[in-house]
Amino acid sequence: MTLPPERFDNMARVIHAAPIGICVTDAEGRFEMVNPAYCEFYGYREEELLGRHFTLMVPEANRTILHELHERFIAGEDDEELAQEWEVHGKDGELRNILARAARIIDADGAVKKVTFVVDITERKGMEQRLEFLARHDELTGLLNRRAGLALLEEEIARSQRYATPLCVATCDLDHFKRVNDRHGHAAGDAVLREAASRMRSTLRQHDHLVRMGGEEFMVVLPGIARYEGWRAMERLRLRLAATPLEEPPLTLTLSAGVTEFTAGESADAVMERADQALYRAKREGRNRVLEDELPAMGKAT
Ligand code: GH3
Ligand code: MG
Ligand code: MG
Repeated sequence: MTLPPERFDNMARVIHAAPIGICVTDAEGRFEMVNPAYCEFYGYREEELLGRHFTLMVPEANRTILHELHERFIAGEDDEELAQEWEVHGKDGELRNILARAARIIDADGAVKKVTFVVDITERKGMEQRLEFLARHDELTGLLNRRAGLALLEEEIARSQRYATPLCVATCDLDHFKRVNDRHGHAAGDAVLREAASRMRSTLRQHDHLVRMGGEEFMVVLPGIARYEGWRAMERLRLRLAATPLEEPPLTLTLSAGVTEFTAGESADAVMERADQALYRAKREGRNRVLEDELPAMGKAT
């Protein structure tokens, strides 16, 4: 299709006025044309971009893959059109998310070019990431929520079965937490919960999972360690709370916990139930303590 010159002029005006970023790169990936919206989005002037390689805008780690994609696209190995989400940075270095749609075109001299349309999806991406986080985490403490915690427990159980590695599970509950709310108010109670969660998290190993099951009840999943080590880990956690009073409101917070070790073949519910039983015993026996579940008597006829 050939266009008369006046229609070319009109098309150039349309591209110039388009509210989305448009650029044309040559077969090597160098900018041949950038429209004002493209320049504005990235914070560069037109003359700063022309002749530069388009990977100028992508973080170092993605440059090689983008080079390869571009070459394949120009060579016609991929579809006619590409639509991909990328992380990019403008001149100010701030990271943004874009949806880039590219089309392969052949210019009047027969040269293959790539025209790319850039849509800013930073806000949508941020929202998606926030929703993803909230689906798995508790908003108050930032810990894993019950649903994510139960899924993780199932995964750790499967891993423990497959590799025959030990796995400990503990449940814990803050002691007399109602009093904290009654004496200092619900907002202060929330702050105490956040502080408790943060202390507990910092006491655990990187690959232990701390889950807020609800209220002031938590589950701790400790992969790779057996009953006694699990008890010791929970004991460290208990001391981390009890040994240093909180500053605001000034109070000493304690917790009770029950620990058990997973036995091959049992369900997640069965392990948690055993840990819960030990927790109730810890409460009954005076709180501020970590108890192991009671092992079934060995060698007894049933
Ligand atoms: P116990 O030692 O037997 O566990 O006594 P307790 O007072 O802690 O009793 P229980 O665990 O049954 O009650 C927990 C209380 O924690 C009930 C509720 O008022 C409070 N709570 C639960 N979730 C939240 C929360 O998100 N924020 C605040 N501020 N309080 C909460
Ligand atoms: Mg409690
Ligand atoms: Mg409770």
